[in-house]
Amino acid sequence: MPQALVNIAYLISALLFIFAFKGLSHPRTAIRGNLLGALGMLIAIVVTLMDKSIISYELIILGFVIGGVIGVVFALKVRMTAMPQMVALFNGFGGGASALVAALAFIEAMALNKIMGVQETVATVASGIIGAVTFWGSLVAFAKLEGLIEERPIRYKGEQIVKILFALASIILGVYFGIKKDISYYWFLTATASVLGVLLTIPIGGADMPVVISLLNSYSGLAACATGFVLNNNVLIISGSLVGASGIILTNIMCKAMNRSFTNVLFGGFGEIVAEADEDKVYGGKVKSASPVEVAMLLENARRVVIVPGYGMAVSQAQFAIRDLMKILESKGIEVEFAIHPVAGRMPGHMNVLLAEANIPYEKLKEMDEINPTFEQTDVSIVIGANDVVNPLARTDSNSPIAGMPILDVDKSKTVVVIKRSLAPGFAGIPNPLFAADNTLMLFGDAKKMVQELINALKES
Ligand code: NAP
Repeated sequence: MPQALVNIAYLISALLFIFAFKGLSHPRTAIRGNLLGALGMLIAIVVTLMDKSIISYELIILGFVIGGVIGVVFALKVRMTAMPQMVALFNGFGGGASALVAALAFIEAMALNKIMGVQETVATVASGIIGAVTFWGSLVAFAKLEGLIEERPIRYKGEQIVKILFALASIILGVYFGIKKDISYYWFLTATASVLGVLLTIPIGGADMPVVISLLNSYSGLAACATGFVLNNNVLIISGSLVGASGIILTNIMCKAMNRSFTNVLFGGFGEIVAEADEDKVYGGKVKSASPVEVAMLLENARRVVIVPGYGMAVSQAQFAIRDLMKILESKGIEVEFAIHPVAGRMPGHMNVLLAEANIPYEKLKEMDEINPTFEQTDVSIVIGANDVVNPLARTDSNSPIAGMPILDVDKSKTVVVIKRSLAPGFAGIPNPLFAADNTLMLFGDAKKMVQELINALKES
């Protein structure tokens, strides 16, 4: 296939990727965006396969079948609540694959007595370092989120110096690799970068894991981009940089949502619980619980209700019951909106995906900045399986692990109803004074079951 034609096809793929991103930025156009991205990928794969004359098609088909089966099994089996660790794992595989492809390109070039230019050499080193950091960093993130290792941040004295030393060692080995053109130096540098990947992720934990995962996502794109420079493959360069850039943008959005600075992410040490508020002091004798019938009576008299979903909605799969609750409230002339916190649940967009699955209109989902000023005019806020994202300690306790994180101001509504099974803490592991507030009623139980009981009570009234 003539090179000019290949590059035109790659350009079309790249454009499709960009339109795919544009489409994915809104739920209404997300399906189209996804299809455009898939079409771009199909074109890139077909053209690449046609372009290379020395490809072993048997091996490619074998890899395709093995990878496809593993992917389908994962996609079917993974719990919705385990998506973040799945994303972490896939990021890691992307980084690892980039590092291996760069190594093989070098081995092939040496076998064919090709001269590696400065661009290819620097790109190979970059791919090895970033790919190994991504692979091992992602495995640690996966193990933490899956509960295979302790999630608590692991800190030790002089950790920044140790990390800098490993980073320097990787770069020095990269320089040796460039001078000696010996693959052993490449394996040494990936080994030191692997340790660096582990060291960069272990000091992070708690509520800050999602930020790290989106950062590792960005690294996986950068590793792919570097491999694109090794192979002189334009579409890999463009798609890798798109993933790298979008990962950084998402990291930035999440940092803002959790009130963390970007340097905190890079140098670790967050997610650490500085001081824990005493549960007895927060709740002692102040928590009021209500029955579904009592809450239904309250809702009957409301004009405006805001539903605040959180991780518990995902656990109990309450989104369909919540849609029915919305419908019955609306049929009684009550205005209903949904308040979506950027880090509610366990992955970016978690609540949006679940509510969209239940066909709740997008216009009803309001982001934090838009809905917060309206809580004072809200008669009842129903918090369903959310905890940290409505915890007023974020505003008042500077020692809290969520200090400074912007929250949904549900406590400002006339009445707050919180549906959860117990007074157990959320992801950040701290008590929530909202549950003991004068205007709060607790409806204890599984989210789906309680919402269904609310619906029954509303139907009977
Ligand atoms: P949360 O603070 O983790 O609280 C979830 C609450 O849901 C728990 O207190 C739990 O209380 C309740 N729950 C669990 N299963 C339930 C069920 N079947 N029915 C009813 N309630 C149930 O959740 P959040 O308010 O959504 O906050 C998210 C937290 O996760 C933040 O700290 C965020 O930083 C972190 N995080 C976010 C992401 C992301 O990207 N969105 C990723 C990882 C971590 P009970 O046990 O008493 O029922």
